[in-house]
Amino acid sequence: MADSEYRDKAADQMKLWQESRGKQKPDSLTTGAGIPICDKLNVLTVGPRGPLLVQDVAFIDEMAHFDRERIPERVVHAKGAGAFGYFEVTHDITMYSKAKVFEHVGKRTPIAIRFSTVAGESGSADTVRDPRGFAVKFYTDEGNWDLTGNNTPIFFIRDAMLFPSFIHSQKRNPQTHLKDPDMVWDFWSLRPESLHQVSFLFSDRGIPDGHRHMNGYGSHTFKLVNANGEAIYCKFHYKTDQGIKNLSVEEADKLAATNPDYGLQDLYKAIATGNYPSWTFYIQVMTFEQAETFPFNPFDVTKVWSHKQFPLIPVGKMVLNRNPVNYFAEVEQLAFDPSNMPPGIEPSPDKMLQGRLFSYPDTHRHRLGANYLQLPVNCPYRTRVANYQRDGPMCMFENQGGAPNYYPNSFSAPENQPHVREHIYRVSADVGRYNSADDDNVTQVRTFYTKVLNEEERKRLCENIAGHLKGAQIFIQKKAVRNFSDVHPDYGARIQALLDRHNTEAAGKRDSIRTFTPHGSHLSASEKSNL
Ligand code: NDP
Repeated sequence: MADSEYRDKAADQMKLWQESRGKQKPDSLTTGAGIPICDKLNVLTVGPRGPLLVQDVAFIDEMAHFDRERIPERVVHAKGAGAFGYFEVTHDITMYSKAKVFEHVGKRTPIAIRFSTVAGESGSADTVRDPRGFAVKFYTDEGNWDLTGNNTPIFFIRDAMLFPSFIHSQKRNPQTHLKDPDMVWDFWSLRPESLHQVSFLFSDRGIPDGHRHMNGYGSHTFKLVNANGEAIYCKFHYKTDQGIKNLSVEEADKLAATNPDYGLQDLYKAIATGNYPSWTFYIQVMTFEQAETFPFNPFDVTKVWSHKQFPLIPVGKMVLNRNPVNYFAEVEQLAFDPSNMPPGIEPSPDKMLQGRLFSYPDTHRHRLGANYLQLPVNCPYRTRVANYQRDGPMCMFENQGGAPNYYPNSFSAPENQPHVREHIYRVSADVGRYNSADDDNVTQVRTFYTKVLNEEERKRLCENIAGHLKGAQIFIQKKAVRNFSDVHPDYGARIQALLDRHNTEAAGKRDSIRTFTPHGSHLSASEKSNL
């Protein structure tokens, strides 16, 4: 087979890099301090068989840096792929938001996007059943806007207090260091607000075909504020122009074994060959009056806003047309923070969003350092940062030079900008810890099960759920099935029937009950048949 038949631009990256240099001579090899190195192949020793010398700076400089190459991986969303491009406004929404990113039709703003799985580590397979992160950074004229979204419009929990426990339950067992269906399903069955997202996760969209064929959603409710100071609640949707495409369980399993970086590779190759992926960007809006009378809490991230009642309003297009020049610098260090909201975009009282406003920048300060916003990929390069923050580890650039580092001061230092004052609104209620566990966990899931899915999709959904739930203990299976039955008797009954079949078969071969992969196990042919 000729090289060109199986090699592509991702596989040929080294060759292409070399070609891009043309006839340029190789750079001089140096230490990190820029001092030329004479020999990169042999350590400095006393005689040919003697010990090393500490004065072998070329060796020690490189080895010491190598020892420090890894930074902590993200607690969640560790495996990811990123790319760059632009957002272009196609429809005027200045009646809703004064954000510069929406300033006029035709305006383009540079963006970075990172796609990811949630629970796996940085080397884990791309084709597992897991929600996908779909985070967008807009480098706007008034600072960076991070829309830290997912490929689902909803989430498993609605109260941020539960977030660490929820994630612990989806990751590794503290003793065995294995993924543990007891943990996963125990938590989900004790928190039925997860039913909606669990149903999305185990539906066909739970394993997207790479990153280009899925939708993204800001998921939370946000607030838009216009130039007159009028506010409206809003949700963000970005729909794939490539069309939705999912992988079957069998295809996904095969790819996990043969090409665990399938999503990363697919995105890189598409962009490298000029096949730029794009998404059409929409908003839904809800007035404050509508929010008062909405049958659900409009700030509950386990629920959607009906498309019929709150139609999608087109806004623009997001296009990815540049691969990272360096993965670590531009993707591993890329840090999204939902609290980065330029004037015209504000948070709603969504409890999960409010929790994320704290936790995202907090984790970046731990993972990347207090000055992570100075890293080129994170810095708001379309504006100029001027404030009273100084110093800290890895402070780059001139640290704002000789400008005063206190406020107020009398020396013409950065001044307040009253015109960007936040929207003023009234809140009056008793402070307390309000239990939202029973805040209607089933109505929208029932619509999804009965109206959105067709018969074949319902069948696969139940098989996918049973294929994973079978790994949990019987008492946990029962709790989970009770919740699915609350959504619809047929939903619970089908899953129970599949579990019964499995449990009967497994009784004879006890080990099989605990052979599974995270969210990805499936039923054998005999376990599925006749349902
Ligand atoms: P519609 O009846 O107008 O449309 C249903 C929506 O479901 C579609 O537009 C599509 O969303 C989405 N969908 C289709 N297949 C799947 C799947 N396998 N997994 C996840 N989503 C899928 O929606 P309504 O607004 O009247 O809501 C009805 C139900 O649809 C909701 O209870 C909810 O479960 C589900 N849904 C609603 C969404 C919304 O934002 N309103 C979004 C996603 C799901 P999309 O167009 O975003 O691809």
